[in-house]
Amino acid sequence: MTPASPDPAEPAPCPSECCAEVDVWVEAGREGRCFTYEDSRRLGVDLGDLVVVRLRGRRMQGLVMDRRISSPVDRGQASGSEAPPRHLEAIEALVQSAAVDPLWFGWIEAMAVHCHISPFRMLKAALPPGWLGQRQSHQAEPRRLWWVQLESSAINPQNLPQRQADLQAALAAGGGGAWQRDLQAAGFGSGLVNGLIKRGLIRREKRQPTDASNGLSCSDACDQDLEVPQSLTVEQQEVVEAFQSQPLGTGMLLWGVTGSGKTEVYLQLAERELQAGRHCLILTPEIGLIPQLVDRFRRRFGTKVLEYHSGCSDRERVSTWRQGLTAAKPLVVVGTRSAVFLPLAPLGLIVLDEEHDSSYKQESPMPCYHARDMAMDRARRTGARVVLGSATPSLVSWKNLAPQGQLALARLTRRISDQPLSPVHVVDMRQELADGHRRLISRPLMERLSALPEAGEQAVVLVPRRGYSSFLSCRSCGEVVQCPNCDVALTVHRSRQGHQWLRCHWCDHRAEVESSCHKCGSKAFKPFGAGTQRVMEHLVEELQGLRLLRFDRDSTGGRDGHRRLLEQFAAGEADVLVGTQMLAKGMDLPRVTLAAVLAADGLLHRPDLQAGEQSLQLLMQLAGRAGRGERPGHVLVQTYCPDHPVIHHLVDGRYGEFLKEEACLRHEAGLVPYSRACLLRLSGDSAAATATAAAVLAEQIKPLCDAQGWCLIGPAPAPIARVAGRSRWQLLLHGPEESPLPLPSGSTLWNGLPRGVALAVDPDPIQL
Ligand code: ADP
Ligand code: ZN
Ligand code: ZN
Repeated sequence: MTPASPDPAEPAPCPSECCAEVDVWVEAGREGRCFTYEDSRRLGVDLGDLVVVRLRGRRMQGLVMDRRISSPVDRGQASGSEAPPRHLEAIEALVQSAAVDPLWFGWIEAMAVHCHISPFRMLKAALPPGWLGQRQSHQAEPRRLWWVQLESSAINPQNLPQRQADLQAALAAGGGGAWQRDLQAAGFGSGLVNGLIKRGLIRREKRQPTDASNGLSCSDACDQDLEVPQSLTVEQQEVVEAFQSQPLGTGMLLWGVTGSGKTEVYLQLAERELQAGRHCLILTPEIGLIPQLVDRFRRRFGTKVLEYHSGCSDRERVSTWRQGLTAAKPLVVVGTRSAVFLPLAPLGLIVLDEEHDSSYKQESPMPCYHARDMAMDRARRTGARVVLGSATPSLVSWKNLAPQGQLALARLTRRISDQPLSPVHVVDMRQELADGHRRLISRPLMERLSALPEAGEQAVVLVPRRGYSSFLSCRSCGEVVQCPNCDVALTVHRSRQGHQWLRCHWCDHRAEVESSCHKCGSKAFKPFGAGTQRVMEHLVEELQGLRLLRFDRDSTGGRDGHRRLLEQFAAGEADVLVGTQMLAKGMDLPRVTLAAVLAADGLLHRPDLQAGEQSLQLLMQLAGRAGRGERPGHVLVQTYCPDHPVIHHLVDGRYGEFLKEEACLRHEAGLVPYSRACLLRLSGDSAAATATAAAVLAEQIKPLCDAQGWCLIGPAPAPIARVAGRSRWQLLLHGPEESPLPLPSGSTLWNGLPRGVALAVDPDPIQL
């Protein structure tokens, strides 16, 4: 008897032979499910392969979890068999063989437990976008790239400019041709290529890259012109040696002031790993910092350097992922937090630059993970070693120092340029007001800004992002209204009718807005925090005669937005670069001699768990932007709270002292990281249903909290109670250090939720 084929176009499933039955894990429901298919097309699929199958008619990509050989008897197809014949659908295509290896998968499963998410969703979040789940059609056509080819018939001209001659030689050494993007990566810009085209020495055409040639094709030819390592300073040398003697699987906190040569240390550590045949992962918190980091690593390691971040297209991410799976030679991948999942084996080094930065934490969607935790855990499992670099280490890493913790400490205390750190001047805005000066820009700042053009110098001005909240403060004495129960500023809320009230984001304490300061009686007592947009408009008015450039999320759109703006500024197209938080991070511009912050108060009084630490980190980073060139720099901070401890530590520049004090304070008060927190975020279209679900959830968790010594705060509306039409509520859990979260295991939490209400679990939250 001949079994019916489900589709006449399909090759018949070979009844007389043995055939592989394959369990494929596909996206179905929250958890993903395994369905059995048949490898009737003889694709030779195996465990860990990524394949295309049909699920209810839709094409899906799924992961092969199991494989058995079934005979016709097993399939009920042999004559005389009792059971009706089974018709398994065919596996349609193999997308990637050995996409997932058992060790890596074991790690992902453990991280799923850590993040309170199902293994399937953890895996989906770790893999490049679009790899697991419904198949997207655009994956079909690969992009065509420029291929540059030497003209064999061309006559070699005399006195070619040096760089053009270099390019010609590189091409010749590489067999005559190369992808233009690899040439670019090796430092041969499109101008050089065009130059040789004009001379008729080369031609250029679009070609389809095969996967094997994606990125690494002409490597050896292009990598001839690489930069040689700097000879290290004594301090740097000590750091490198300390790292070399670290046991495998451990980490080091590299605390080095801005400009002390941390990046050079990363480069040289990476070089040693590459020589030993091991891959390196270099992570940075912000996509805006990627270009300069990639440039520096490419100059040193050429085409071994790949990128992996949200600025890459899905195709590029898949390509980098594939190269990680199949690379014959060790790679350096520069990326943002999601790059921590790349399948690189053997992995030697993971660097987290600016380790204190909260962008390493994914807040939403789930999994809410911190790249630092992931990196440390991965290193422990694989024998890689971690370097956490920062000028202002996080208290979390500080607390994790040996001997109690797991991190060794290494320090770089001097700038390479031997320039001292720029002195900090504090402008007391209360005094400005008392003198009848009511502008955004104080007189001292105005004076310095207007002197810039003549001196040929530049400034960066930070306008703290408004964030979601404003607080009530006194412009005469600096008093800020705090919650009587918690050590945070109360937040001003406004109803649509214009009524205002104060609320604590922690305990939901509420209070009326008063019109005069209870400390000094002043009437200059009002909400603080104007929108960035409005501040910019004011600045333009106040700074007439100065050329401004705006640097924030709106003006730096697109993949190269940051780079373009910074290049414009570096080229001297503006005197002042005005921007939000991003401005403080990582840029290295020699003509910047002034770094200023308009209203430090906007940073100091955020209702966050770590507001003090984060604002000092940001301000010190901002300060690090000034005076990186020959000329000395200055830092100017405008504030109504010049006596705030953060401002004191900024002025004295002793970050270590701050950490010690902060550690004591938080230890005594039982605050993070000397305790644990977990945030449960609910959101839904219906305000009533979301509120009810939050109350029900609180009921459900309360007994667990009581049993494990945790306290439950809330439910309360989230700081931004409505986003994109969805109501948001939250529950804050607070408990002893290193104790497990008081949550039921698996999907129990979600099963009780009504339809239309979503829940996210955020362990160790950074923002409320
Ligand atoms: P950081 O990452 O700590 O801010 P960088 O590594 O960027 O510091 O170093 C600051 C500057 O000093 C860079 O221009 C870098 O090229 C240079 N530099 C770093 N190390 C050395 C060295 N050993 N010798 C000479 N110059 C160096
Ligand atoms: Zn007052
Ligand atoms: Zn409170």
